[in-house]
Amino acid sequence: MSRDGVDCGKHGYGEATYVCPHLPRGKGRGWFTQPSDEDAAGPWPDAWCADCDRRLQSDDEAAEVELDFVVVCDGCYEAHREANWPKDVTGHLASLIARARERHTERQQQLADKYQIESYHEYSWQQDPRRLVLSAPRKPRLVAAFQMVGSYSQKTNTWLWPWAQTHYTESELEAARCVRAYGDEHKLLRLASAHWPATEQDAWDMVAVAASLYPSEGGFRVPHATGFSYLLITSVQRRKA
Ligand SMILES: [Zn+2]
Ligand SMILES: [Zn+2]
Repeated sequence: MSRDGVDCGKHGYGEATYVCPHLPRGKGRGWFTQPSDEDAAGPWPDAWCADCDRRLQSDDEAAEVELDFVVVCDGCYEAHREANWPKDVTGHLASLIARARERHTERQQQLADKYQIESYHEYSWQQDPRRLVLSAPRKPRLVAAFQMVGSYSQKTNTWLWPWAQTHYTESELEAARCVRAYGDEHKLLRLASAHWPATEQDAWDMVAVAASLYPSEGGFRVPHATGFSYLLITSVQRRKA
């Protein structure tokens, strides 16, 4: 769906998103979107509540059911999602992150020891297949195969999973898709939703979680114009400068 802008009294000018009329008024009404293999919708797919979903599922001629969507800005969309998403009452995400962090710290240390990766500050991208190339004075280049974990914007303080963007190849998204599948299965908002308010610590936590679900040598981040892209490095080759 093409996106228009919407002027919101609360958030200013934002992206137009579409939700069923029960979500803006409700709490704990559930949050449903298109099946996860339909990503064309971008970071804010049309969403509806559990009652609307029952209507969609139960109608004999499901194709005939039309939901009445209302337009809200992307900031309101995320606030309604927070209010209506099933609560993580058992602290599933927090304990997943705690476990993932522990292992992640260890893995990062191994990566640092093995390649002195902390001393590499120049980045470039090699194409076909796409690889991250790290350079440092008087050191062999490191050519790394990677998985894209996501990106953090310092401008908006938000996290974005790469499966909601169009510029990655499927082979770079395997780790992020594992995380999303886990999030879908356990109804964890931050793992299953494309875009949400975040800190840089949250970003590293998502790297740790991805590394706990997908084999890798460790995480790495690359700066870009408005923040950082986070990767999982899956293998590294040393090349003579
Ligand atoms: Zn509804
Ligand atoms: Zn708004």
